[in-house]
Amino acid sequence: MYQADEKRYEKLKYQRCGRTGLKLSRISLGMWHNFGSVDDFENCRQMVRTAFDAGITNFDLANNYGPVPGSAETNFGRILQQDFKAYRDEITISSKAGYLMWPGPFGDGGSRKYLIASCEQSLKRLGLDYVDIFYHHRPDAETPIEESMLALAQIVHSGKALYAGISNYPAAETKQAIAILKELKVPFVLNQIPFNMFNRFYEEDGLFDLLDTEGVGGIVFSPLAQGLLTDRYLHGVPTDSRAAKNDVFFAKQLSEGVNWIFCSKKITPQVVALLNKLNDLAKQRGQTLSQMAIAWVLSRRGVTSALIGASRPAHITDICGCLQNVEFPAAENAVIDQACAEYLSC
Ligand code: NDP
Repeated sequence: MYQADEKRYEKLKYQRCGRTGLKLSRISLGMWHNFGSVDDFENCRQMVRTAFDAGITNFDLANNYGPVPGSAETNFGRILQQDFKAYRDEITISSKAGYLMWPGPFGDGGSRKYLIASCEQSLKRLGLDYVDIFYHHRPDAETPIEESMLALAQIVHSGKALYAGISNYPAAETKQAIAILKELKVPFVLNQIPFNMFNRFYEEDGLFDLLDTEGVGGIVFSPLAQGLLTDRYLHGVPTDSRAAKNDVFFAKQLSEGVNWIFCSKKITPQVVALLNKLNDLAKQRGQTLSQMAIAWVLSRRGVTSALIGASRPAHITDICGCLQNVEFPAAENAVIDQACAEYLSC
């Protein structure tokens, strides 16, 4: 039987989501990749155990995580049942709805119909009565924001989630959401957005300043740029990496010229040279590149937690070592800013 490490709370730090009462571990584990029905269940289980033993208490899911969609929630539900029954009150679990999940007009977007039905389905797959945080996964231009927020309010007020969150909402829409949720008396804790050394859109958008002013937390996803900001690609593209797997999984879309997919084509010799430059800086700081990348996001204003992914337990152990050094002198920030500018011009 799994017994959690007794020293787990001496290892990481915990931070309140803005000025709310909810604390998150500064590192969170997400299950977008590597937790589906196509993946090795025992490896998934070991990753969750490793995370909890390291002090991670926040676990992130969405209705569509897999593949197949939904299977990450089913797998995590099994892990909870097998190993974490005694620890349910020591962890926060989140799910989301907002992207395509089932066919027809009610399986995508931001309607009340979709969000409430999807939350019910997620709870069934997870084997839970409630999730801690339920997010609207992305803004939906076809649905009035009031309707999506009212659905979140109902989910919280009916006890299916303890807190509400939003994801991928830029500053202007976040401001609207905050005002509506305040009026509806919904405990609103987080906006979940992409952010890393190479992707600073939401910082430039003013979102972190807004969250800071409003007392709401920010949890940042893909803080390693899907694995780019690690040692994975320092010498090219390993066959077991996400980029190589995406080449196969998204072969049809890539052949049609779809550009948003993280695949081996994006890892050019110029990019590899840049990553090696950043790796040299990380070594000077006494860190791995992945530790430096996570330390950097945690050093930015408004970031409550870095939401990482992993494909093996050792990744999680490595990342959790990053809190030893989260200070960035101006000279180091200048090197990182320069690398970001060069990356964007590649
Ligand atoms: P990351 O940027 O952290 O990338 C994770 C990948 O980096 C891993 O799969 C692994 O790649 C590699 N990696 C991680 N740690 C190490 C290490 N120590 N050494 C070497 N390589 C390492 O995050 P993700 O893109 O996976 O996103 C994290 C989570 O954020 C998701 O699981 C999900 O919960 C959430 N998310 C939310 C979205 C939203 O719209 N709200 C969208 C996307 C993600 P490899 O697999 O190649 O080994």
